[in-house]
Amino acid sequence: MSLRVTQPVWQLIEGYARSAYPEECCGALIGEPPSDFDRPGRLVEATDARAFGNAWESGARGTRYQVEPSELARLERELAGTGRAIVGWYHTHPDVPAWPSPYDLLRSWPCYSYLIVSVVDRRAVDARSWMRSEDGKDFVAEPFEAV
Ligand SMILES: [Zn+2]
Repeated sequence: MSLRVTQPVWQLIEGYARSAYPEECCGALIGEPPSDFDRPGRLVEATDARAFGNAWESGARGTRYQVEPSELARLERELAGTGRAIVGWYHTHPDVPAWPSPYDLLRSWPCYSYLIVSVVDRRAVDARSWMRSEDGKDFVAEPFEAV
């Protein structure tokens, strides 16, 4: 399993990360799901990203994110029938490492890539991608690159 994003997508995410700091930002990674999307060895390439509002109230946005449900529904309608779909999610960790929190695990789904970007002083200093383990008890790191 691994996640690849195109440079323009990475630049979008970096920009969102900078402007949301010191709050967390979040959004969807979009691409063509490979036929083995649900298999452990799969490679996913994100060719687009969509920023979503963080649905938490402002006091909680520094440490957690919640995708705005209406924006998610709108994106899914847009993607229907295009061959493209949500292949993963990104969110930022302001001033903390790019390791998933217990909360991130609790709110995760199988198969998707979860890209976490650590942001310090409005700069993306680290980015790591994770996938939920098959038993749902943990996240497993997966190779990540911006190409
Ligand atoms: Zn997180």
